[in-house]
Amino acid sequence: MPELPEVETVCRGLTPLLVGQQIHKVTLQRENLRYPFPFLMPERLQDVTILGVRRRAKYILIDLSSCDTWLIHLGMSGKFHQLAAEAQFGKHDHLVLKTITGLTLAYNDPRRFGYMALLRTDQIDQSSYCKNLGLEPLDANLTAAHLHGLFSFIKRPIKIALLEQQRLVGLGNIYVCESLWAAGINPFRESRSLNYDEWSKLLPEIQSVLQRAIAAGGSTLKDYKKINGDLGYFQHHFSVYDCEGGACQKANCNGTIKRVVQSGRSTFYCPTCQQ
Ligand SMILES: [Zn+2]
Repeated sequence: MPELPEVETVCRGLTPLLVGQQIHKVTLQRENLRYPFPFLMPERLQDVTILGVRRRAKYILIDLSSCDTWLIHLGMSGKFHQLAAEAQFGKHDHLVLKTITGLTLAYNDPRRFGYMALLRTDQIDQSSYCKNLGLEPLDANLTAAHLHGLFSFIKRPIKIALLEQQRLVGLGNIYVCESLWAAGINPFRESRSLNYDEWSKLLPEIQSVLQRAIAAGGSTLKDYKKINGDLGYFQHHFSVYDCEGGACQKANCNGTIKRVVQSGRSTFYCPTCQQ
């Protein structure tokens, strides 16, 4: 499933292609993805100019000159790819956008778990999609003190609480495992037991693991492709995720990576150095 780094990668790929462009036409090849497309979507997108592309959690937000914002969730397998002007639409190209300069972009989604909405830009933060979302992990203003405070009443294990999206967004299973390992924190610890110093270690590790994934074009889905069609390759560089039975890669640790199922998801960790 595309996670925060993949969505950020897609946003960064879409930005130079789309910002400042005027939409000529949007064509839908079917009526729905996971949900029906927004009412009168092609009409509402016609002739409008794209003002910006940004990300909130795992949503792509495309701000439009019509004062609407086009919200896109990639689901399990959604991706954008560029088509030659006269190319035939592919089998899973469910939406095709043409700009007045001739750029043709298709939204492709074989499993159709993705969805889209058109919302007023000034109401995005209050919308049902965004109102319960927590802080952005890469926000420059986010501090260890914020997180220490937010999680200080939570009894649930830190691994589980970090996967929930209402305090901190965008951390999927892989990135939670990787950052807890890097910070040396046991995934079964009660969230409220983490002290300020531990949050001061964990926050930079969360940010670093996400930044490295973004830099690598991040990927968690084997057939996931960047906007330009290149496969992401971050999946080959995990330190702990999917490394069951392997030696812990920390310099002063001779532990062995263990896999345990925690609330239905695999947790990979090193029992020796994650206390
Ligand atoms: Zn270790």
